[in-house]
Amino acid sequence: MSKPTLSVVVPVYNEEEVINESYRRLTEVLEQTGETYEIIFVNDGSRDKTLALGLEICRNDKRVKMIDFARNFGHQLAITAGMDASSGDAVVVIDADLQDPPEVIPLMIEKWREGYEIVYGKRLKREGESAFKKFTAKMFYRTLNKMTDVAIPVDTGDFRLIDRKVCDALKKVPEHNRYVRGIVSWLGYKSCPVEFQRHKRFAGTTKYPLKKMIRFASDAIMSFSYKPLKLANLFGGLSIFASIVLLVFYAIFKLLNPLTSLLIAGLFVAGLLFVCLGVIGSYIARMCDEVRNRPLYLIRNKHNFDDEDK
Ligand code: UDP
Ligand code: MG
Repeated sequence: MSKPTLSVVVPVYNEEEVINESYRRLTEVLEQTGETYEIIFVNDGSRDKTLALGLEICRNDKRVKMIDFARNFGHQLAITAGMDASSGDAVVVIDADLQDPPEVIPLMIEKWREGYEIVYGKRLKREGESAFKKFTAKMFYRTLNKMTDVAIPVDTGDFRLIDRKVCDALKKVPEHNRYVRGIVSWLGYKSCPVEFQRHKRFAGTTKYPLKKMIRFASDAIMSFSYKPLKLANLFGGLSIFASIVLLVFYAIFKLLNPLTSLLIAGLFVAGLLFVCLGVIGSYIARMCDEVRNRPLYLIRNKHNFDDEDK
């Protein structure tokens, strides 16, 4: 099959309720653009009927491809695998749940034709998400921006179009704890936003529970900032300073019971040490991930690709 102009990468994890509608809306929009295209579903270890439904779509439409992961590797690796396997001149990444409206894709293509190499979707409003999610998301993007040296656009998800050049450049960044949109910003290239309203999920529930959100946020911060590590230094310095002050204080006034004050001071220092160790540990864990150099993801099967693994 010859190379399409557009590749659309859609990560799917337990999306049996939305995958068909997602396919329908996407094809409708893509047909209208008049461009040649491929849709790549990446099944991220779903435990429901997502894979079966996706394969059914693949059987009826050869422009739809499926990558089936050996287990759940997470959203960021799913989109990475999709981009790695894509062959289009431009690659669009979009969530399956239709929160990112496919109707924005033609606008992205327009900007790309004007010469932009990255066209990212900027969320104007978020509908149908809990106040907690909206608040944490807002705080997250702003804190991240303060902490990092790389300018990562705020309120921007992974819904974006990237040029083939950017996609190939991404492959040269083999980081494991990936924060893909941060890496894309780090790469540089000419970028511009396209604004859109973020809708409610079409069906089903979020596949980003609090645990995954925390993991995602810490990957983002630790991949792009050494500030937490420096914070550990600050705590260390402060506790040494505090202990000296206490020592002098006791020496001068000879008032306090030395045993209790020692205990308090000891506890204080131990607490800070644990905080520091925790921060350092997190970085070391990430270094371990890089040094181990395990593959980012493992594919069980590929369907409708030219180099199909059978
Ligand atoms: N997703 C995935 N693997 C995961 C979690 C999510 O591939 O471990 C996919 C999911 O199917 C969806 C996209 O990533 O297409 C975004 O997830 P979701 O809509 O649940 O996140 P939210 O919009 O609630 O942040
Ligand atoms: Mg969603």
